[in-house]
Amino acid sequence: MSTAVDQSKRNFLRGRKPSVVAKFRLPWITSESDFLKDCTQCGDCISSCDEDIIVKGDDGFPTIDFNKGECTFCTDCISSCQQTFFKNDKTSAAWPSKFNIKDDCLAKNKIYCQSCKDVCEPRAITFSYLDSSIPQPLIDQDLCNGCGACIQPCPSNSTELFLFQELS
Ligand code: SF4
Ligand code: SF4
Ligand code: SF4
Repeated sequence: MSTAVDQSKRNFLRGRKPSVVAKFRLPWITSESDFLKDCTQCGDCISSCDEDIIVKGDDGFPTIDFNKGECTFCTDCISSCQQTFFKNDKTSAAWPSKFNIKDDCLAKNKIYCQSCKDVCEPRAITFSYLDSSIPQPLIDQDLCNGCGACIQPCPSNSTELFLFQELS
């Protein structure tokens, strides 16, 4: 059965090409290439993050791990960094992300759960009965700010954030 979630993802995928960028770095970086060129792997951002969500990635560069928690967009990691690969405008989205709920979501499999909605401050996740006996998750991609708060609490690891950028 087609859902609003699936439609949102299709719309998004139709409009943009997936980038070679696969990792969430620090928020508001200008580009992955700028980041990889100038990041010294000093680790200052890792120790600056009160949420402890910045880890040293397999490639040695800092990476966000939403399984450890959410980004509060506090900008402490940016303040700690000596480099200049950050956008000046912090009112724009921190990263080009889109959110998805996979088909193994408990609610989609007729088991009551709304843990993702409960932690979503922008209210990007809502639930509706649709034609089901258990309320089904619906996503508003425009409201999702990519904070990742819904990743860790999901009991079935069904929530996921995609990082996309248009290829230049
Ligand atoms: S903005 Fe704040 S919460 Fe987000 S990664 Fe940087 S230090 Fe951590
Ligand atoms: S928390 Fe996970 S399992 Fe529960 S409704 Fe949300 S996506 Fe589905
Ligand atoms: S990433 Fe944040 S804003 Fe987006 S759906 Fe999850 S909790 Fe809501």
